[in-house]
Amino acid sequence: MSHIGINDLKRHAASTEAAVREAVDRVLESGWYVLGRENEAFEEEFARFCGTRHCIGVANGTDAIELGLRALSVREGSRVVTVANAGYYTATALGSIGAIPVYADVDGKTRLMDLTHLADLIAAGGIDAVVITHLFGLLHDMEAVLRITDPAGIPVLEDCAQAHGASRGGRRAGSFGAAASFSFYPTKNLGALGDGGAVVTQNSDIAQSIRRLRQYGWEAKYRVSTSGARNSRLDEMQAAILRAKLPFVDSWNSKRREIATRYSTEIRNPRVGCPQSLGEEYVGHLYVVTCDDRQGLAGHLSAMGIGTDIHYPVPDHRQAAVSEANSAIRLPITEELADKILTLPCYPELTDHEVTRVVAAINEW
Ligand SMILES: *Cc1c(COP(=O)(O)O)cnc(C)c1O
Repeated sequence: MSHIGINDLKRHAASTEAAVREAVDRVLESGWYVLGRENEAFEEEFARFCGTRHCIGVANGTDAIELGLRALSVREGSRVVTVANAGYYTATALGSIGAIPVYADVDGKTRLMDLTHLADLIAAGGIDAVVITHLFGLLHDMEAVLRITDPAGIPVLEDCAQAHGASRGGRRAGSFGAAASFSFYPTKNLGALGDGGAVVTQNSDIAQSIRRLRQYGWEAKYRVSTSGARNSRLDEMQAAILRAKLPFVDSWNSKRREIATRYSTEIRNPRVGCPQSLGEEYVGHLYVVTCDDRQGLAGHLSAMGIGTDIHYPVPDHRQAAVSEANSAIRLPITEELADKILTLPCYPELTDHEVTRVVAAINEW
């Protein structure tokens, strides 16, 4: 019985090998390796994909959050609402700025930010920005988010690292907020062969600010006009590889959604809770079930040759680096979910037969 991994990047790479090799050759022969024509073309193509006016390539998804927030005037001491169930990436970006995370709890069903809690935090005052993470590939109801944040004049950054291509009402992840961050880490729905990231925005001032922030604060070569800047660039090799893969993202997302829909329809074990939002708003980045006996389920699947993982086992406010300072924070749903969630294999190259095996293994448990 062959092993079914939680992911299989070798299969994924094989599916685009010819196009990727051609892209790599093109860069090799170009004599230009950082922020060049491939980057410019990718920025244009990815902005079109998202339905935004601008895209700025950066080095990774965490930098994209950081530079995006800096362009939204988040500074040292700024208070930024975020969730604590999304892997600490936003907290890392806030830490680099010296800004302070203000945690909102999540909804037990969607696992996305609880908007009642968000409204309460904003009503209490002192909030400078909000990060909405479209966790597991599920686009939040951004119109509902903006109905809360817009009247208060608070900018929203969408963290789309898990939600490339997700849409509601024909509008895609990244096109709603003042700015949006993407990661192209190899496991993402659009992944490079290394690190990569981008910020997208509809606003040309924000775009210009990020272009400066990603390269030493330069307004022109060797002319520094912006402080708080970095070196965070997307290299030509990764940009060319991303261009080669971008045309496939929508069909990969459909395949992920198809697998997720099979799981949610065919898993009939009353001890296992399955996600229910499976329309265009969900791109199947991670398929995450809930189970009171998570360890038992994971052990059973492992014995059946099926890999699982936990995204994420420790809520941000409970991470060892910050738990002491956060000991008074209570996020009941976030904390409960952290003990119950389990991620099943869900990626475009998973075969029908493998999905059948996962379903059968869960139903017989
Ligand atoms: C992967 C990820 C990031 C960070 O991206 P990197 O490219 O690894 O820095 C940020 N937010 C979320 C939700 C992610 O899944």
